[in-house]
Amino acid sequence: MRVIKTIKEMQANGESVRASGKRISFVPTMGYFHEGHLSLMKRARQVADHVVVSIYVNPTQFGPKEDFSQYPRDFERDAQMAQEVGVDVIFFPSNEEMYPEGYQTYVDVEKVTKNLCGMSRPHHFRGVTTVCCKLFNIVKPHNAVFGKKDFQQLAAIRRMVVDLNLDLEIIGLPTYREQDGLAMSSRNVYLKEEERKSALTLVGALKLAQKLYAEGQTDAALIIDKAKQLIEAAPFTQIDYIKICDASSLEDVHRIEGKTVMALAVRVGKTRLIDNSVLGEEI
Ligand code: AMP
Repeated sequence: MRVIKTIKEMQANGESVRASGKRISFVPTMGYFHEGHLSLMKRARQVADHVVVSIYVNPTQFGPKEDFSQYPRDFERDAQMAQEVGVDVIFFPSNEEMYPEGYQTYVDVEKVTKNLCGMSRPHHFRGVTTVCCKLFNIVKPHNAVFGKKDFQQLAAIRRMVVDLNLDLEIIGLPTYREQDGLAMSSRNVYLKEEERKSALTLVGALKLAQKLYAEGQTDAALIIDKAKQLIEAAPFTQIDYIKICDASSLEDVHRIEGKTVMALAVRVGKTRLIDNSVLGEEI
């Protein structure tokens, strides 16, 4: 496995792999790997000849009061894990490499980024789509693998790829969970033991919504209200949002018909967690 730190070298790698007729699969990450990340890399291994993973904590997707400097990092551990699942190249650039002095170009997907996390993190998705667009041009993949845990991120990336005619396929994979249902996240390491118990109310709320929907309930406000009660009953929780949205436009729906997603963001202690599930699909 190679570790590449410069854009020039990474682009040359893409060129030569393509010239040899091989297909490149790409998994963009911020590192601090867990099984969820590894599930994306394993899929990448299956759908291409050459697997590239980027590890880059992208400053432009963090707000001024967010956890950019505290975000967990452990390159050696990540490299070991990536090697074990057969990754060919880790792209590990510096901020100077990605955003040199004079940088001023951004990709803004306008509509699907407005609701949900876009309400409290106004510049977050602009940072995500910008860095992914740059990474696609640097890595030159045939496909890129993302997790549905970040449902809105995946929707924004898909939209960008269509709108800007980017020549790659986007693959979305299910959320990988702990035994007890908690969605795996690099940020779970922030959780203290008592907070982790409260964090389980996120998946509890999604399961409750699935149950109500399976019983025939289609009133979004009613389901959201019951989910809210469940989460608010647990200590340390503060709800950012709980919403039921159309799964492609990500606009709120009042009545559940067609493909809808329940998405939530909850602060547990100081840690902001997100989760979601498409209503009617197994969690
Ligand atoms: P991150 O490093 O958290 O930015 O995530 C990198 C990629 O891993 C994104 O496509 C995420 O959606 C995906 N991911 C994060 N957590 C999970 C999970 N629990 N299951 C599946 N994919 C995940």
